[in-house]
Parts: sequence; C-alpha cells; structure tokens
Amino acid sequence: MSGKITMTTPLVEMDGDEMTRIIWQKIKEILINPHIDLKTEYYDLGLKKRDETDDKITVQAAEATKKYGVAVKCATITPNAQRVEEYKLKQMWRSPNGTIRAILDGTVFRAPIVVAPLKPSVRTWKKPITIARHAYGDVYRATEFNVKKPGRVELVYTPDEGDVVRELIHDFRKPGVVMGMHNLDASIASFARACFNYALSTRQSLWFSTKDTILKKYDGRFKEIFEEIFSADYKSKFGESGIEYFYTLIDDAVARVIRSDGGFIWACKNYDGDVMSDMVATAFGSLAMMTSVLVSPDGYFEYEAAHGTVTRHYYKHLEGEITSTNGMATIFAWTGALRKRGELDKIKALVDFADRLEAASIKTIESGVMTKDLYGLAEMSDKRAVNTEEFLKEIAARI
Ligand code: NAP
Ligand code: MG
Repeated sequence: MSGKITMTTPLVEMDGDEMTRIIWQKIKEILINPHIDLKTEYYDLGLKKRDETDDKITVQAAEATKKYGVAVKCATITPNAQRVEEYKLKQMWRSPNGTIRAILDGTVFRAPIVVAPLKPSVRTWKKPITIARHAYGDVYRATEFNVKKPGRVELVYTPDEGDVVRELIHDFRKPGVVMGMHNLDASIASFARACFNYALSTRQSLWFSTKDTILKKYDGRFKEIFEEIFSADYKSKFGESGIEYFYTLIDDAVARVIRSDGGFIWACKNYDGDVMSDMVATAFGSLAMMTSVLVSPDGYFEYEAAHGTVTRHYYKHLEGEITSTNGMATIFAWTGALRKRGELDKIKALVDFADRLEAASIKTIESGVMTKDLYGLAEMSDKRAVNTEEFLKEIAARI
C-alpha cells in the first residue's frame, strides 16, 4: 500500500504545447502524484506529435474520451502560417478543440475561479457565473449581402417535395443590407441536453434567454425545444436536486444577472454567448482564472483552461528566464476531471482530493501568494508575487 488514492478508470490525458505543457508536468509532479496513484491514458497533442501522426492523435484522444467519459486537456497551439514555419509542419492542422468538439458534439461551459482579493466589477457577484454557449449556426453561418439598387428581397424555401414558400423581406427603394441565417432542431436539442446535464452535475440552476418576443418562430423554437426536453426528461431530476430551470427574455436576463450574487448557469445562443462570456470573464478579473469544460449530450466531459499556451512566457522560459505564469485554470482542469472521475467511479477519496486541491489553490491566493498577473489586480496590502513553480509549491504546502 502506497497510501495514495487509487483510481479504477483512467482519465484521458491530452498533453499540449509551450508554457502550459511545462506547467502540466509540474502540476502532476508537485500536486497530484504525491497524493494519487494517477491512472491516465496519455495522448500527446503537442504540435510535433500531431504533425508526426497527421493529426490522428487528436482523433484518437477524442475517441478515447467517448470510451472512458472524462478527459483533461492542456492548451494546444492552433497552427497559423507562422507556426507552420516555426514547426516545419506538413500542413496547417485544424484546431484540436474544433476537431474534438466535432467528434463529441458538445457545448462549452466557461466559469471564473472566484478568489476574495480579485473583486468582480459587479459588487454583488459572490459566486461564479457560468456561461453556456451554443456553438452552431445563427449569424456564424449566415448569408448576407448589400442591396444597392431598388428591388424586392425575398426568402424562398424550395422543399424537395411540395410547394415553394416565399416571404417578402423588404421591398428596397433605397440601398440597404440583408441577411439569412438558420439553426437545426437537433443542434438546439443537444445544446439543451448538455445544459440540463451540466446543471445537474454541478447542482446549479439554469437560466436560458433569447429574444422570442421579436423572433417568435426562430427564438421561439429554441424556447420550445428547451421546454419540451426539460418537461420530458429533467423536471423531476431538477426537483430532486433542488435546482430550477427557467426561461426569460434576454433583456430581463441581463438585468437579473447584474443584480444577482452569481452561482448559476446562463445558457445563451451563439452570438449572445460569444459577447456575454467575454463580458462575464472580464468582470470577474482574469483570463488565467477562467475554467472551461466541454460537455457532450451523451455525457462525456473534457476539462481544460480557457487560456492558450501562453507563448510569450514560453519564449522567455526558453531564454532561461524564470516566468510567473498562473497555473490556476490548468489545476482546475485537473481537479474538474478528477472529481468527475471520482463521482462516476464512486471513489470518494478522489472527489475529496479535488475539493482539497481547489481549496488549497484558492487559499494560497487569498493568503497573498500569487503569480504576477494577479499581483497587479489583487486588492490586498500584504501580497507577494512568486514564480510559476513556487506558486505550485505554495499550494502543495496547503493541501
Ligand atoms: P494566451 O496563451 O491565452 O495568452 C495571452 C496572454 O494572456 C499571455 O501572453 C499573458 O499575458 C496572458 N495569460 C494567459 N494565460 C495566462 C496564465 N496562465 N498566466 C499568466 N498570464 C496568462 O493566448 P495567445 O497568446 O493568443 O495564444 C497562444 C497560443 O495558444 C496560440 O498558438 C493559440 O493557438 C493557442 N490557444 C489555445 C487555446 C486552447 O488550447 N484552448 C486557446 C487559446 C489559444 P502577458 O503576456 O501580458 O503576461
Ligand atoms: Mg469572442
């Protein structure tokens, strides 16, 4: 007996790039391995390996997530022309997150890690607000054009069978602009299920908002699908968990979010989620403190940090400089995954460890020890900036 916590099912471990790859190793070494007999199925999604395997490794990692149910992912480089040159790549491989999302068909939930010295811009916010963003369709797949000369613009639907439907958009007498966009019932339904499952798994109430008073059919369909799925499959489970689901108009939601003390999930359509997640993240303080989890409608979970590979710090590290990079969001990716694994496998010690590691991380910052990115923001007099590794060791001492 090692005295360490044992695991039954492996976590799918997706390693990544640059500064976060270095932090990844250190988190395991300093915070996890001393306490857990860590069992993972390792996939190296570092850019070099993706190139060597013609990106098959990314697909394999996503398939493994379907097999085991829970993955933890390090930030990865999404190659651009400069990276193709830097890494001498065979081709400009697609975004790993995009590839994984396409295979798991998920919704992304983003939530800030709340610590006392970082005061949210909204002073009533006490608990994190999680944004759930639908990631398909609407304005991101729209067709648009400029109308320059007088003429009628119509929406035309030509069914495979049956009569053509025409609706006048506008009879333009003067120049203007026009747009057509769509969504799919199946995508809306999988978004709804991901939101309901995530609300249950985190025991937080779910808010959903659209503009259905204006877009009675379009946004009305979103509202309807959420309502149907909730009534059929989730209503009683929500009741048992003591959480609620409600729909409200987006104007009302915005007002209520600002007045709230946080601690709920706000489901948003694609554009609303894009805009609102940046607002919420900024109002809570720092990108280095944002967690992110992809939840599939089939109940697979993939945890990661919301930030990237922190390239600027990595180049300094390569020059031998000691960096002060914040490992919080990456630590919380690990604790999220370990907790979920513990819950699914009914290993209480694993769930408890995740709780203790999160508490120790928060306590470290609250006792005034933090990386440079937070040092400038933290409202406290007795504070000290530490480097990447010192920060992890300070946390280790508080577990
Ligand atoms: P980034 O890695 O998030 O970093 C942007 C800046 O934010 C950093 O230069 C740093 O500011 C600050 N920052 C972010 N995380 C931090 C942390 N943990 N501790 C301290 N400061 C932190 O974004 P990027 O530089 O735009 O992208 C770098 C690479 O990451 C790109 O190749 C991109 O493709 C990839 N990326 C991956 C993911 C993902 O895998 N999910 C997401 C986004 C980007 P200062 O330099 O001012 O200290
Ligand atoms: Mg955006």
